[in-house]
Amino acid sequence: MRTPFVAGNWKMHKTVTEARHFVSELVPALQTIAGVERVICPPFPSLTAVAALLEGTDIRLGAQNMHWEVSGAYTGEVSPTMLAEFCQYVILGHSERRAYFGETDEAVNCKMHAALTHDLTPILCVGETLEQYEAGQTKEVVFRQIKLGLADLQLSDGSAIVVAYEPVWAIGTGRASTADAANAVISDVIRVAMAEMFGDEVAQGVRVLYGGSVKGDNAAEFFSQPDVDGALVGGACLKVGDFTQIVQAASRS
Ligand code: PEP
Repeated sequence: MRTPFVAGNWKMHKTVTEARHFVSELVPALQTIAGVERVICPPFPSLTAVAALLEGTDIRLGAQNMHWEVSGAYTGEVSPTMLAEFCQYVILGHSERRAYFGETDEAVNCKMHAALTHDLTPILCVGETLEQYEAGQTKEVVFRQIKLGLADLQLSDGSAIVVAYEPVWAIGTGRASTADAANAVISDVIRVAMAEMFGDEVAQGVRVLYGGSVKGDNAAEFFSQPDVDGALVGGACLKVGDFTQIVQAASRS
């Protein structure tokens, strides 16, 4: 049994003051929903303020990126040990990091190793671009991202990582994948690649999320799929009602 999982990626939204107000409203709404692991991922400046507000709750905190080194001359970067004081999770390899900041699969792999070394659970994002989708390359692109992103990891337990399948063409566009198609990529590509690397038991134990224009009104359809274990949510995580609706749908799944 894989516990449903919903994470909200705030991206570059909300000041610290806005974050405090928002989380003060969000926590009571989410606290009433059982059976779903709930994670919120604000920008770096808000992490400590949000961590304080989440204390005593079972809502978890994640960051949106990190460097793989613990410290050093890396201006503007944030290290795994800095995050591990506040966060349980870190999103790695988001398509916006890959597209706008030149993140390669090799860099993502270094970050995956660093996260696991420092007790952070990585949420590895994979997914094909529109061009790759239209060229029929989804399978090979996602397979390669999994193989390279997870290269040389020692995984004996699927709960050590989370994977998010996020077709780039579905992110922030309002054009979600169909639930069937997302499930097929997760079961036939992502779990198959992981099974080759770590064995079937580990591959079946990893929570794999769908991400890309998930809203309150389409979430249940994704969660009804056998291999979709939850969602990574962008736009719809910025409003208390919308995010709560998605978490409720996961709880019913
Ligand atoms: C995301 O940024 O990971 C995402 C899925 O965004 P949205 O839900 O807005 O498509």
